[in-house]
Parts: sequence; structure tokens; C-alpha cells
Amino acid sequence: MVNKLAKKLKSDQVDISIIDPHFNHVYQPGFLFTMFGRDKTRNLIKDTRDMIPKWVNAVEDKVTKVDTENKLVHTSEGDEVKYDYLVLATGARIATDTAEWWDDSIHHFYTPPAADRLHEALQSFNKGRIVVSIADLPYKCPPAPIEACMLMDDYYRKNGKRDDIEIVYTSPINRAFSIETTNIRVEEYLKEKNIEFKTLFNADYVDTEEKLIESLEGEDIDYDLLVMVPPHRGHQFLIDSGIAEGKGWVPTDKETLEVKGQEGIWAMGDCTDIPTSKAGSTAHYQAPVIAANIVSAIKNKPKNKTYDGHVQCFFLTEFGKSMFIDFNYSTPPKPSPSRKIWWWLKRGFKPLYFTMIARGRV
Ligand SMILES: Cc1cc2nc3c(=O)[nH]c(=O)nc-3n(C[C@H](O)[C@H](O)[C@H](O)COP(=O)(O)OP(=O)(O)OC[C@H]3O[C@@H](n4cnc5c(N)ncnc54)[C@H](O)[C@@H]3O)c2cc1C
Repeated sequence: MVNKLAKKLKSDQVDISIIDPHFNHVYQPGFLFTMFGRDKTRNLIKDTRDMIPKWVNAVEDKVTKVDTENKLVHTSEGDEVKYDYLVLATGARIATDTAEWWDDSIHHFYTPPAADRLHEALQSFNKGRIVVSIADLPYKCPPAPIEACMLMDDYYRKNGKRDDIEIVYTSPINRAFSIETTNIRVEEYLKEKNIEFKTLFNADYVDTEEKLIESLEGEDIDYDLLVMVPPHRGHQFLIDSGIAEGKGWVPTDKETLEVKGQEGIWAMGDCTDIPTSKAGSTAHYQAPVIAANIVSAIKNKPKNKTYDGHVQCFFLTEFGKSMFIDFNYSTPPKPSPSRKIWWWLKRGFKPLYFTMIARGRV
């Protein structure tokens, strides 16, 4: 976002500040590789200050409040940053604290240490039932838990343990994957790979002593190893600032990306309540829209760029093969066949991400 803006504006025209408590940006799709020992966490993290122009003011601090009346951002160090235009891009908070039953015996792959810990657990697991479940909706990267199941199938086939290991996937909705066109293919793969899936299973309580998940629908599933997509929430400061309510997702116009009920504030990426996937590609296609509209606002021109809901995603089906899906608000995806080419593009995406995408070059 900063790079897209900085390209359109000159340092003598505007001040741009980026505020983040840590500039160690994490390439999260890499967790699907680190959890199987196919990449190292240290390779997923890079300092974004090296990726933005020197004239951009990088403030290493946490936003604690936005005073929308006086157009001020307050930080935890007690600083105030004045703005004319504000872009919220604070992502989703991994909110295991909101499930009182959550403890460290429940695995996930939504943070670097959790993915590393899961790698150790998968490596030492020899026999029994792995359940991959979802604590709450929405969550980042809707394909990720299904990809994790299919990669587990391949991982245990390759190390000869698959016959002793059952893999069960639970979906909170009435099908395995939310988008029907893709779901048809996904359910075929799950059956082919002997991955049991249960639909309409909304996890309500996990008894980690008894190793049992209870669903809101009244069903129980026992497990030996539980991998659960943790609850996701928006950040508390957004609620405290009167910008968001409830679970903290920012109410955002799905086309203009302006925050509803606010002046001069846009939101992008995972922090919004927009009805589309929480995905990096979503943020990627939103950034130029916001940049163009901020430039128009500065120049007193009409803000006429809109976001059409464009999302792209590689959908891994095994080590070495992936589907590719591409869609927007009006056109559902036609999933490609699972091919080596998409796998290699996903594998090669990390360097492309850090050298081109994050730098705003594409
Ligand atoms: C396992 C997994 C696999 C994935 N695979 C894919 C994939 O294949 N394709 C895809 O497109 N997406 C994928 N994603 C999703 C993708 O990583 C996210 O959607 C993307 O990172 C969202 O970007 P964001 O900028 O909105 O949030 P983030 O990347 O989470 O960044 C949020 C930033 O806000 C900062 N922040 C938070 N609170 C504050 C505060 N109070 N003050 C200041 N700064 C703050 C954080 O420090 C962070 O730098 C995957 C995610 C996971 C977990």
C-alpha cells in the first residue's frame, strides 16, 4: 500500500507514515511448508523497512486508538500521528483467548511458533486419528485447512505411516469448501485420498483431557491429535475507537473500500468485513484502488476506482501438485486441474512476493 502510494506521490508533496509494532513481516502461506519441515520459519520473515522508500516515515509502535474526530492516531508510546487520510491494514488477530477451553495441546499453523510446534507433532505422530477442525468463521485463507489435510495424507503416505493414521476434516458449513464450483473438486479429492469429512460441524467445546470436540449441532468427535484453525478477530483498538463493533471487523464498502461512517479512512486486507476471502491476494488487488482514490482525493478529483472482489489462490492437493482459482464478486472460480505448474508457482511465490509484490512493483 505504502509503495503504491509513494509511486504516485512525491516526497515534497506529502508525508507518508507507516505504523507497525514490528516491521518483521511474515509470509504466512509459508506455514503450510514449515509445518511439514519443507521450509524454515526464518526464511518467511523479512524487514519491510528495506522494501519502502527512505522518505516514508516508519514508526515502530502499536496503534492504540484512532481519534476520528481530530484525525489523530495514538500509539502505545504516547505519540500522536496526524492524518488527512488513513488506511487501516491491521490484519486479523489470532484470538485463542476467546475460546476458554483452548490450551497448548491444540495445534494450529497460524503463527510461526505454532506451525513449528505442529511440525514436531506431525513428525512424531505414528498412529491414530488426526482431526483438522475450525473454531470459528471467518478465518484467513479458506483453503488452508483442507490443503493441510491433503498434504498430511501425502506426507504420511510417503513415510509409510498412512495406513495407521486416520485424517478427519470438519467443516462448519454444509460442504467441505465454501465456493460450490471448487467444492465439487475438493470433495472428490478428499474422497480419493481417504480423508473423512464432516459438514455442518461447528466446534463449540474441546475437552482436551478426554480429547473430544463437541459441536453446536450436538455431535462429538474424538481425536489423538487436534489441529484447529483458531478463532480470528479484529483488533481491540478498532472497537475502542468506535470504528468497529462485535468481533472487531472494520465495516468497509466492498467496492470503494472506504470505512463506513468515517471520513477519509479506507480499510484493506484481513481487517475488513468484506464478504470475500481473507487472503494476501485480496489485499494485493485492493491496494491500487485505495492508492488511486487517495491521490484523487488529494487532487480534489472524483474517487472513481473500485475493487471488483478479485482474489487468486493456489490450492495445494499434494506435494508437487496444486489447483489454481481466480474469482471476483460476480464470477465464481473455475478451478484448474491440479498440476505441477501451479505447485511450482506456489513454491516460487515467496521470492516473487518479497522482491516484487511487497515492493509494489506489480
Ligand atoms: C497458513 C496460511 C496460508 C495462507 N495462504 C495464502 C495464500 O496461499 N494466498 C493468499 O493470498 N493468502 C494466504 N494467506 C492469507 C494471508 O497471509 C493474509 O490474508 C494476509 O497476510 C493479509 O494481509 P494483511 O496486511 O491484511 O494482514 P497481515 O499480513 O496480518 O498484517 C497486519 C499488520 O498489521 C500490524 N498490526 C496489527 N495490529 C496493529 C496495531 N495495533 N498497530 C499497528 N499495526 C498493527 C501487524 O503487525 C502486521 O504487520 C494465508 C494465511 C495463512 C495463515
